[in-house]
Amino acid sequence: MFYDVVVVGSGIAGLYTCINLDEKFKVLLLSKDKLDLNNTSLAQGGIASVLDENDRFKYHFEDTLIAGNYKNNKKHLEIMVKEGPKDIEKLLNIGVDFDKDNEGNLLKTLEGAHSKRRIVHHKDKTGREIIDKLIKNIKNKKNIEILENAFLANIKKDELFKLTILKDNKNYIYRCNYLVLATGGIGKIYKYTTNSSISTGDGIAMAHILGANIKGLNLIQFHPTALNIGNNERFLISEAVRGEGAFLLNNKFERFMSKYDKREELSPRDVVSKSIIKEINETKSENIYLDISYKDDGFIKNRFPNIYENCLKYGIDITKEKIPVYPSHHYLMGGIDVDKNSQSSIDKLYAVGECSHTGVHGNNRLASNSLLEGLVFSRRAAEDINKKDKIELKINCETKYRNIDGNIELDNNYKKDIQNIMQSSYFVNLNKNKAKEGIKKINYIIKELKNNNYIKNVNYYETRNMAIISKLILEESLKNDK
Ligand SMILES: Cc1cc2nc3c(=O)[nH]c(=O)nc-3n(C[C@H](O)[C@H](O)[C@H](O)COP(=O)(O)OP(=O)(O)OC[C@H]3O[C@@H](n4cnc5c(N)ncnc54)[C@H](O)[C@@H]3O)c2cc1C
Repeated sequence: MFYDVVVVGSGIAGLYTCINLDEKFKVLLLSKDKLDLNNTSLAQGGIASVLDENDRFKYHFEDTLIAGNYKNNKKHLEIMVKEGPKDIEKLLNIGVDFDKDNEGNLLKTLEGAHSKRRIVHHKDKTGREIIDKLIKNIKNKKNIEILENAFLANIKKDELFKLTILKDNKNYIYRCNYLVLATGGIGKIYKYTTNSSISTGDGIAMAHILGANIKGLNLIQFHPTALNIGNNERFLISEAVRGEGAFLLNNKFERFMSKYDKREELSPRDVVSKSIIKEINETKSENIYLDISYKDDGFIKNRFPNIYENCLKYGIDITKEKIPVYPSHHYLMGGIDVDKNSQSSIDKLYAVGECSHTGVHGNNRLASNSLLEGLVFSRRAAEDINKKDKIELKINCETKYRNIDGNIELDNNYKKDIQNIMQSSYFVNLNKNKAKEGIKKINYIIKELKNNNYIKNVNYYETRNMAIISKLILEESLKNDK
């Protein structure tokens, strides 16, 4: 089967690429699980953008630079800040229901390290709302075919891309002229992550195998406040909770952020996460809390219904009690290196959203800039592809399939090993000795995966991708720590 464009991923970046692609193209949209299972659906806080006269592009630009330690790609950042408002406008036109006041004006919230209230939101379920509306819109497009539970396993390239796709325990070969990777993050290489189960770094690993430039994989964001109730699940307590006035407390219920940064609870995420770890070391207690209970009950329930409900499931009433929190892996700033149109170093291979490295975030992403980056740079990818002509096919591209190779079932143990390695070697701070040890262990896993005749199913490829990504992260981190 041949498509002009294959878009891999149905988060904000993949869906918004599809929305913006010209209808002259025959497009295939792939999602390795259900269409709405991704990090975008989990996004709570909202999208940052300059949307009224109290704010200025230069303030958003400067706030992003400060959070990113001035390591941001300034050209790309300027594009994102200036073009962002028109993409928010487009979402509104598509029907995304951002919260508004009684006069119909958009409500904007504040989050850590933003100097202005500029984050538009839908309660604390912004991502879910966006995904639902984008999917609804795409389902009406005749030129787009959607394939759910279809896993991209390998990419080869000659004149066209040749994609191996696993579906229903069979290998299918598809070809396309343009390939857009929108495969999201890497969270599942960690034991503690806020990310959804699909986040195994597939796109980045496959682009690396293909020879694309990968950049900034050492730039990992650890969110300071994930719910800590003693199991592996890490439900995010959004930045917006601190934005609305919540305090961080230590084991003696004392505020401590002022010891570490004058911006206190509203410091950038890397600063807050590192401060929490310092406080834990100083107090010799891992008990850290977030407290918003002093605010009006009605306000909390209305503003944070999702967080309120989820905490209640674990027996914590946030209108009355402190929330136990702990840092957690959250986001990857690095990825497949792209230019201002999201084109990678490989001709006709584009990368958008969290799997890409546009450089806009610098060393540390400013809250609510990720969805914005996903919008702006996926639209730019689509606009770039739209300028190209359709090609006349000279080869026969019938859909071929064959059964999956291999005869040994791979269990989950290598995945767990990788998660333990990453958790102990690079979590908030880098542990150099553990990282060096970790690389050796991962090399062993990679060799074992190659040398045994494992069944080449989704679990196999995810394990391979997680191993490749983890190795690259640790190598890059050690290099940058010198
Ligand atoms: C809990 C949480 C809260 C967040 N809150 C905010 C927020 O308020 N504001 C903000 O700006 N950012 C937020 N972020 C970050 C932001 O949500 C993500 O960075 C962004 O949504 C990523 O979008 P994406 O389209 O790149 O990837 P995703 O939304 O993760 O989508 C990835 C897609 O790729 C597909 N895929 C992956 N591998 C394959 C494969 N091999 N084959 C086929 N398909 C594949 C998946 O099925 C999925 O459809 C949050 C993140 C989390 C985890």
